[in-house]
Amino acid sequence: MNQAVLILIKPDGLKKSLTGNILTRLSETKLEIVAAKMVRVSQDLAQEHYRHLKDKPFFKEITKYLQGELHDRKKVMALVYWGKDAIKKCRDLAGATNPEEADPTSIRGSYGRITTSGIYENVIHVSSNEPEAEREIKLWFGPSEIIVDLYPAKDAVLKETRSRVWA
Ligand code: ADP
Repeated sequence: MNQAVLILIKPDGLKKSLTGNILTRLSETKLEIVAAKMVRVSQDLAQEHYRHLKDKPFFKEITKYLQGELHDRKKVMALVYWGKDAIKKCRDLAGATNPEEADPTSIRGSYGRITTSGIYENVIHVSSNEPEAEREIKLWFGPSEIIVDLYPAKDAVLKETRSRVWA
């Protein structure tokens, strides 16, 4: 069954110059990239992304982590991969959340670490299931940024919205 999955290359992945390695590893899945962009992550976006963890003691630190405040790299690379069993294929390649427990040949096992303050710096985010993938993709991307029609969308005339255009 074709599925979409949100992948984030987190600020530690960017700081360690791992973008190429990670994309090469993900290309093993033979999935299609249907959206990609660099994002400067606001506090609201980080908190909404990790809202399922808001009661955890590490919530504040992981939102700072996603915003790049721990790495002096205030950006993440966001991608949507699409194809057969996309979530399982990408999660298998990513490895376990805890990089010490992840298969050593997985992306997190190869490149992740646990910081002295106990945060799992695991270089990549992969949506965990289909409802989460839909929620996350709609949070990070608008319909016009994705080159296939993943979810129902509609035309809307947005009045009084300010957007930046070329001068
Ligand atoms: P995953 O990213 O594997 O889907 P979660 O959504 O549970 O896992 O966690 C989000 C992120 O929070 C993880 O990728 C990791 O960076 C961090 N994290 C999760 N659990 C812990 C923990 N017990 N201690 C420290 N950091 C954690």
